[in-house]
Amino acid sequence: PFGQEGVAAAFAQAAAAPPPDDRRTFTWVGGETAALEHLDWYMRSGQLSTYRGATESFAHGEANPVNSGTRLSPWLAFGCVSARHVVHEARRYERAHGKSSSTGKGHGKSGSTGARLHTELLFRDFLRFSALSWGTSLFKVNGPFRVEGLEWGRDAERFAQWRAGQTGFPFVDAGMRELAATGYLSHLHRQCCAAFLVRDLRLDWRMGAEHFEACLLDHTPDANWGNWAYRILQRPCLAASRAQYPVEAHITTVECLAWPVVHDARMAHTLRWVPELRGLP
Ligand SMILES: Cc1cc2nc3c(=O)[nH]c(=O)nc-3n(C[C@H](O)[C@H](O)[C@H](O)COP(=O)(O)OP(=O)(O)OC[C@H]3O[C@@H](n4cnc5c(N)ncnc54)[C@H](O)[C@@H]3O)c2cc1C
Repeated sequence: PFGQEGVAAAFAQAAAAPPPDDRRTFTWVGGETAALEHLDWYMRSGQLSTYRGATESFAHGEANPVNSGTRLSPWLAFGCVSARHVVHEARRYERAHGKSSSTGKGHGKSGSTGARLHTELLFRDFLRFSALSWGTSLFKVNGPFRVEGLEWGRDAERFAQWRAGQTGFPFVDAGMRELAATGYLSHLHRQCCAAFLVRDLRLDWRMGAEHFEACLLDHTPDANWGNWAYRILQRPCLAASRAQYPVEAHITTVECLAWPVVHDARMAHTLRWVPELRGLP
C-alpha cells in the first residue's frame, strides 16, 4: 500500500517510544548501531563475568537466570547483530579479563560464562536448522516430536486468566504481565509460564505459542514454537526412555512454586508486577 515515498517517510520518523512504565527495567532501541552499542556496553561493564545462561535454572544469588541474560535476543532476531559477532566479542573479553565460572561456583565442568553464552547461541542455531527439517509439524498439535497420549483443553476463561496474569500463582502472573507490558521475558520465566499452561492448565500449547508470538519482541517461529514444542515433551526427553516414563507421570509441575523461591526469594521482581501482594506479611 505504501509507495517509495511512503516508505521513506515512515523511516524518516523517529520510532514511537513505548509508553512510560516504571516497571520496565530495560528498553530496546532498534537497529544495528543500537545493537552494537548494547553489546559493547555489556562487555565493558563486565557483565559477561556473571552471565548465567538460560538453562542454569537453579543458580542462586544476585546474578541468576531471571536477571542475567544479555537481552540481545530482539537484535539477534531482527539480524541487527550476528551470533558470530557476539561470540567473537565474548572471546575477546575473556582473553583480556580472564574466564569466570558459568555457575558462579569455581571452574566446574559447565565451563566459562563465555562458553555458556556460546552454547545458548548454538542452541538457537540448532532450533533454526531443526525447524527446516520439522516443517509444518512444528505447528501441529502433537508437535515435531509427535507426542501422543495428551488431551488438550481449549477453555477460554482459563486461557484469558493466563494471558492477563490472573492465575493466582504470583511468579506466573508476574511473568505474563511483564510479557504483555514489555514484549520480553527471561528464559526461565518463559519456561515457567509455558509449563503452567501446558502441564497445569492443560490447554492446547499452540494457544500459548500464538500468544507469545503476538507479544514477543524477539519472536522467531523456530525459537518460539521450537521451545514450546519442548514443553510438551515428557521427561526425560530421550526417545529411548519414553516407554519407560509415561507422559502422565511427568505432566505436572512444581517449577512455578520452586523457581521463585530460588530466583526471587525477596519477591522484588514478583512484587513489581503483582503489586496487590505488597501488603502480605
Ligand atoms: C516458550 C519459549 C519461547 C521462546 N521464544 C523465543 C523467541 O521467539 N525468540 C528468541 O530469540 N528466543 C526465544 N526463547 C528462548 C529464550 O527464552 C530467549 O532467547 C532469551 O530469554 C532471550 O534473552 P537474552 O537475549 O537475555 O538471552 P541470553 O541468555 O543472553 O542468550 C543469548 C542468545 O542466545 C539465544 N538463545 C538463548 N536461549 C535460547 C533458546 N532456548 N532458544 C533459542 N535461542 C536461544 C537468543 O538469541 C539469546 O539472545 C523462548 C523460550 C521459551 C521457553
